[in-house]
Order: sequence, then C-alpha cells, then structure tokens
Amino acid sequence: MSYNAFITETDIRESDDGPLAGQRVAIKDNISTAGTRTTCGSAMLESYVPPYDATVIKRLKQAGAHIVGKTNMDEFGMGGTTETSAFGATKNPVDETRVPGGSSGGSAAAVAAGKADIALGSDTGGSVRNPAAFCGVVGLKPTYGLVSRYGLVAYANSLEQIGPIGQSVSDVAALLDIVAGVDHNDATTRYDAHHDEATHPGKNAEYQAAVGNSASSLTIGVIRELVEGATTGVTEQFSAALETLRSVGVDIVDVSLSSLEHAVQAYYVIAMSEASSNLARFDGVRYGPETAETGNWNETFADVRERGFGEEVKRRILLGTFALSAGYQDKYYTKAQDARAWVAQDFNEAFERADLLATPTMPVTPPQIGESLDNPLQLYLMDANTVPVNLADLPAISVPAGKHDGLPVGLQLIGPQFSEETLLAAAGTVESLSN
Ligand code: GLN
Repeated sequence: MSYNAFITETDIRESDDGPLAGQRVAIKDNISTAGTRTTCGSAMLESYVPPYDATVIKRLKQAGAHIVGKTNMDEFGMGGTTETSAFGATKNPVDETRVPGGSSGGSAAAVAAGKADIALGSDTGGSVRNPAAFCGVVGLKPTYGLVSRYGLVAYANSLEQIGPIGQSVSDVAALLDIVAGVDHNDATTRYDAHHDEATHPGKNAEYQAAVGNSASSLTIGVIRELVEGATTGVTEQFSAALETLRSVGVDIVDVSLSSLEHAVQAYYVIAMSEASSNLARFDGVRYGPETAETGNWNETFADVRERGFGEEVKRRILLGTFALSAGYQDKYYTKAQDARAWVAQDFNEAFERADLLATPTMPVTPPQIGESLDNPLQLYLMDANTVPVNLADLPAISVPAGKHDGLPVGLQLIGPQFSEETLLAAAGTVESLSN
C-alpha cells in the first residue's frame, strides 16, 4: 500500500558512510532537490526541476542518507489535511478512510507506513506537528533560525522552519543533529553580529544524546485555553500522559495565556499576506505551465494562475492581497503584527513559571477524507494549538500519547527559544513511559 504518500519516488544517495548511512529519508516536495522535480503539491510546478539542492539536502547527502522520495503535501503548504494537493489526497496509514494531517501529510504517512525511516517536513503553522499527531509518529518544529530555509519554497517565510519526523524521539533528534546549524545562504540562521559560527545554538548541541536525559526535575505548564477547545477523547489521552509525567516527579502546573484567543486570526492574516507576496513569482514566465501567447501580459498572467493554482491557494492570495492593500493594512496586517508580539510576550512570561508548556497537539482526532474541505474556517480553527508556536518563533514537539477509538492523539511540548535538548528529553520520557 502506498497511501499516495509520495509524489515522486527517488533513489538519491551520495555516500555510504556518515551518521545517517542506511537510513531511508523522505522529503516534503517543497524542499529543493537538484535534478529531481519539486512540485509543492501544485499543478503550477508539476514539471519544475530545481537546479540546486536545499542546504538540508546537501547535509543529508553528506551524512550518508538515502533519499527515497518527495512526499505529497497540501498545495504550497496551505492546509492541514494534505487534501489540497494537485496530486490527490494522502491516506492515513492508521486508518485509510482518514486524512494523515498536513501539510506534511506525505512525510508523516511515509514514516508511519514504514516506507521511510525518517522524513523532513516544513512547519509554518503546525505542518510537521499536525501530521505527526494524526499518524501516531513524532514531529519537531525547531526554533526559528535553527535550521536553514535555503531551498525551501516559501509560503510564509517569517513563520516557517523545516523539521524532522520519525518513528521515535531518538530518530527525530538524530535528524535534527544533521540539519541544524548556521548557513550563510540563510541570514536568519542565528549567529552573532561577528558571524561567528561557533555561537550558533545548533553548533554545540547534541540532540540525540539529550533524549535520554532525565525530565523529572522539570516544571511543565498546561496551557488552559488550549485544552478547553479539545474533544473529550483527546483531553482524556492528554491528561493520562500528564499523569505519567507526574508519576516520575515532573511538576505539572496550570498556566493561562490570554493573547491566544487572537492567535489563529493573527496567524492567518500574516501567513496569507506573506503568501500573496511570495507566490507572485509564479507568473508563467519564470515558472508555470506554457500558455498561449496572447500578447497581453495581464491576460497571460491571469490565465496561468487561474489554471495553475488550486482553490485554497487562490483564496489565500486574494485575502492576503486584500489585507495588505492601502486603506486596510493598518486594520488587518498591523494589528496582526501587534497580536504576534503579544503572543510572544505571553509565552515569555509563562516560561518564568514553567520550563516547558504542554497542550494536545491537535484538538481533534483525524477527520475522514473529504469531511472538512468545504469549510475552510473549521480547518483554520483546527490549527489553534500549533500556530501560536510559529508566531513566537519557538520550538515544539509532538509525541504520541495513546489512542482514542483507535485513532492517534499527540501531546505537544513547547519550549523557550533554542531549548530543543530539553524538549527532546521530555518527549523521550513521555515515549518511554507509554511503551
Ligand atoms: N494549516 C496551516 C495553514 O494552512 C499550517 C500549514 C503549515 O504549517 N504549512 O497555514
């Protein structure tokens, strides 16, 4: 069974030794691979072959990885179910009638189905953690600036990071060890004013080694607002996972972040605004299908975009263009930026009381294929627990926390910037207690 997890199967390997030798890796199809088409799940890029490798691909090759395919995704990362792909929906290996989550649904499904050992996805507002939770695997969204975005086709560049997906916390950490670090092709990878690589937070971290560290001295804050919106089945699994953490000495406290009620609105205004600008390059000249030459640039541009983009992508370009237009910018975009700053400040205050924060990754278990597509608003609300993390540039991990009615539930742990080692240690503890 392939579950339609891959858009293109590949057999790319450059070296047989290195820390990832023998590991089969699946790559989300918005990460550029030289010589192998990179479609972003869009008809617009159906036959686009990048001339260069993303930095993460270079690192994987050097580490001895075997790249087995480019995975299915919501078109340009816009969605949470992998149903907006121009290449058809991916099925959830746990239950084929259900979505695998998204937008990195193909990557999570490939790992869950055993078609790949590890995978890379990208997370703009939850797209690594959401499919990890829905497919019962582990997914990590790194701190903004820890992993190079060079070669990642941009959807909303101020929010997104490439992140690892694996069967276990240790596999995810091993992949993070390879991809984290400064990159001169991406100025947002963090290093100090003197461009000293030694100061990059990923430089001296040892993520895989951190997985076995004890979590028992930690204080974990439960974000009240993000538990209230979850279904009873999800809440039961989430509470049970917290109880096991408590049983090994973790201190569990309640926290409240009042800004979070505005997070989904702020996220969608910012994400759509950035998307409307980033996707302007798909004009039929530099990218896109051939068109009949009309002699009128506006007509040709409109025709290519009408045929090349799906409905959700068009909706977001229109809304994003509106939010940035003269006369409305202050009302929407500027307000959303204020809300973003407020969310970040609320998180900072919460981290004065707790080392890490916890929520259910998704408020629901995976919906049936076809169930949620005609109600975009309902889909956007499904992101309530994941988008605050991207607004505040924080790292977060989703780790399996049992099943409700046979369907996986994910526990999300959120940490301060560059606290990936602590997050991985705590996630490793959750994993070992549930096995
Ligand atoms: N579901 C969210 C969106 O559609 C997140 C997507 C993502 O992280 N790429 O924007």
